[in-house]
Amino acid sequence: MINEPYGQHWKGHKGFRAIEGSDVYHHRFGGQEWNVPKCQLCGEDLHQILCFDLKDDRLSELRTSKLEELPLISCLNCSTLWEPQLFQLDPTTKNVTVLIQNDKEKWIQDEEDKIPVPLPYTKFKLINMLGEDIPVNEDAYYDAFDLFGQEYICRLLGAPLYVEKPNDISCPTCNHDMKYVSSITQDFDVDLVSVVDLFLGEMIIYFYFCKECLTLKTEIQGT
Ligand SMILES: [Zn+2]
Ligand SMILES: [Zn+2]
Repeated sequence: MINEPYGQHWKGHKGFRAIEGSDVYHHRFGGQEWNVPKCQLCGEDLHQILCFDLKDDRLSELRTSKLEELPLISCLNCSTLWEPQLFQLDPTTKNVTVLIQNDKEKWIQDEEDKIPVPLPYTKFKLINMLGEDIPVNEDAYYDAFDLFGQEYICRLLGAPLYVEKPNDISCPTCNHDMKYVSSITQDFDVDLVSVVDLFLGEMIIYFYFCKECLTLKTEIQGT
């Protein structure tokens, strides 16, 4: 079942801002410890954008016996990101396989504006979402949108802040419900990660994960 985008039910729902900085866990931005495949359109390696350390008890709902960390993967340099993508994670080999990239636009970023692959590495930490990040009513929902991408780049668990409610969250591989994990956006006028210029083009990237079959899904919505 998909929750309404705002309402009191989000109040007790723990979510985090993931921000640059270090804590005792190995959450991080960038790097390339996972063996990512090449993008089917632009031919570059996919970006390992963030990777979350599942030893962190705050992320216990994402834990599976097979997986110690959860990487968020996508190419950020071409239009493959504009359609939903599915990736398969193999924790034994740390291989990522493309199940679906369904590009329709064939757009590739200009060479001089390309985001580097791999992304430069920096540590990330989690802090509890602030009261104003939680969309308990319609006003709070719009206020939360203003801060997301302006003050911080990544929401992890908690309320997803959808522009539009997604229709279907069942896993295309095994039919279990996928779990909303994280979303990423950054406004054009801020630099929320010190190591790289990350222009995400007025998009929010949503990541979903199926714990049953270790499928990762990306989907975008415009802001
Ligand atoms: Zn690409
Ligand atoms: Zn599945």
